[in-house]
Amino acid sequence: MSRRSQLWKLARTCLSALIEMLLRLEARVRQLERQVQELKGRLALSSRNSSKPPSSDGLAKPAPKSLRQKSGRRRGGQPGHPGRTLQPVEQPDHIVPHRLEVCPCGLCQGRTLGDVPVVGYEQRQVFEVPRKLLEVTEHRAEIKRCPVSGRLVTAAFPKSIQAPAQYGPRFRGLMIYFNNRQLIPYDRLTEVSEDVFGQPLSEATVVAANQRVYQNLAPFEQEVKVLLPQAPLVHADESGLRVASDAPLVACRVHLLADVLRGASQARSPGHG
Ligand SMILES: [Zn+2]
Repeated sequence: MSRRSQLWKLARTCLSALIEMLLRLEARVRQLERQVQELKGRLALSSRNSSKPPSSDGLAKPAPKSLRQKSGRRRGGQPGHPGRTLQPVEQPDHIVPHRLEVCPCGLCQGRTLGDVPVVGYEQRQVFEVPRKLLEVTEHRAEIKRCPVSGRLVTAAFPKSIQAPAQYGPRFRGLMIYFNNRQLIPYDRLTEVSEDVFGQPLSEATVVAANQRVYQNLAPFEQEVKVLLPQAPLVHADESGLRVASDAPLVACRVHLLADVLRGASQARSPGHG
């Protein structure tokens, strides 16, 4: 029996049951319509047509539209710009001479040039990291016996040298740079130290170095807090970031402190009003 004929039979034999069914269906349709409307609204709301912040747009946010006008210049590096091509330096660290003993001109059957004076050089420079990246400097504090008391006494070490073996400030600075600017995590820095420098590095050392820099930068931060409100232009940025498979947005506010400081100092100097 088809559904249609089932319903015809129900209409003839039990009309009230059919009406009950219709009412239930109507209620169900209204409920579903409400759900559809709500979901549609949720899909359509973004920072562009509601009061929601841009950071709530997820990865659906549109690509930023640049306000820059076409400059009329070609893309990429401009003529006269120094660019990033490696340039020879004035003072090389090492010089390797290449002697000219036999003439290669092809017309003299290879005259010996040993006694002929050099009239000039053609230079080519090779930039290379030293074979041994870490230099070890041993500090030796003299120990003497006092002729009066007979006691053994030791010369003082510089205050920064505390341990039998420790890294110097330039190495620590490099690790802080890798960690904070290049975002290499602590455990990977221990790898960098072992693979590149051939020496172990504990995560605690980097943590301590970071802590120290953080404290040392406190006066700088104070100075910036004073200068920020005086700056004619403050740069703040907010951008999306994918984290794992999830897509939350991490709002990151970047204050280009150097720009701020430059702007502030220009604002105070007479030439820039
Ligand atoms: Zn020749």
